[in-house]
Amino acid sequence: MINRRKFITASALLLALDKKSIASSLPNEVNKPIVISTWDFGVAANADAWKILIKNGRALDAVEQGVWVPEADESNQSVGYGGLPDRDGKVTLDACIMDENGNIGAVLALEHIKHPISVARKVMEKTPHVMLAGDGALQFALEQGFKKENLLTPSSEKAWKAWLKTAKYEPMMNVENKLYDKAAPQKLPGNQYNHDTIGMIAMDVKGNLSGACTTSGMAYKLHGRIGDSPIIGAGLYIDNEIGGATSTGVGEEVVRNVGSFLVVELMRQGYSPEDACKEAVMRIIRKKPEIAKNIQVGFLAMNKNGEYGAYAIQRGFSYAVCDRMKQDLVIKGKSYY
Ligand code: ASP
Repeated sequence: MINRRKFITASALLLALDKKSIASSLPNEVNKPIVISTWDFGVAANADAWKILIKNGRALDAVEQGVWVPEADESNQSVGYGGLPDRDGKVTLDACIMDENGNIGAVLALEHIKHPISVARKVMEKTPHVMLAGDGALQFALEQGFKKENLLTPSSEKAWKAWLKTAKYEPMMNVENKLYDKAAPQKLPGNQYNHDTIGMIAMDVKGNLSGACTTSGMAYKLHGRIGDSPIIGAGLYIDNEIGGATSTGVGEEVVRNVGSFLVVELMRQGYSPEDACKEAVMRIIRKKPEIAKNIQVGFLAMNKNGEYGAYAIQRGFSYAVCDRMKQDLVIKGKSYY
């Protein structure tokens, strides 16, 4: 990434150290700007968010632009354009956004709009409401000048038609995800899974936090089904005094536990980001151990110091980090199983 060069002088020494020793040698240093996001495909998304952060841009702009990358990526079958459809063959998108002032906007089951995150931002900024759903969300998007498009790509349609033969609704567990391919960053893995959301949290140079979360949801869901991703507190939560959290995986369990809000509240109590994510995962496991065994849920969090961490039920949850020290880092999140 080109911008890294700008930091070589300032961070040459830091690059030689590992993150732990940096943190301990600079205890009061806030790690900013920084952007983190879920899954390997977060690397490419972070790169675009970073372009804004590095120019002293606002975290809100960074997360919106960052998640545009998987939203527009036809090969990503779990977010935006090219997303796998519901059982009726309709691509319905869920997204939400939250800024440093606690403002929120969300769209639920939005069809035909490639960038639901930007419609969510318009809901936040141009309406007195916080959520718009279905046809009403589409009508609003069109009024705001968004283009109506067919989001069902031939390969997603093919996958859906193959699914129709058995029509068995079964979220596939993404155990041991393939790692990000540095040699071909645009060819991202993920297609073999029938869910995976991008949740992104950024802190800008001013130390302000924002987050975005966008998905096509669980493939082959019932038409009208909403997951955690567009629900503030479940799929995403930001508290500018404390930090932010986001989630991915089987949304029903995240909603039941108001997962991302819980993670932020645990960080408020002094938990590290990773420990907060772990406790939120443990709530899910403790309440429904039999169900939890067979599903994936992962949380990703960042605190006000720019420290981050994640935890998932199953192995295979990865997340991407971009800060002054490392710009294309993929970390395998820890997990219960
Ligand atoms: N959380 C998303 C949903 O339930 C799917 C995912 O992240 O895998 O719709």
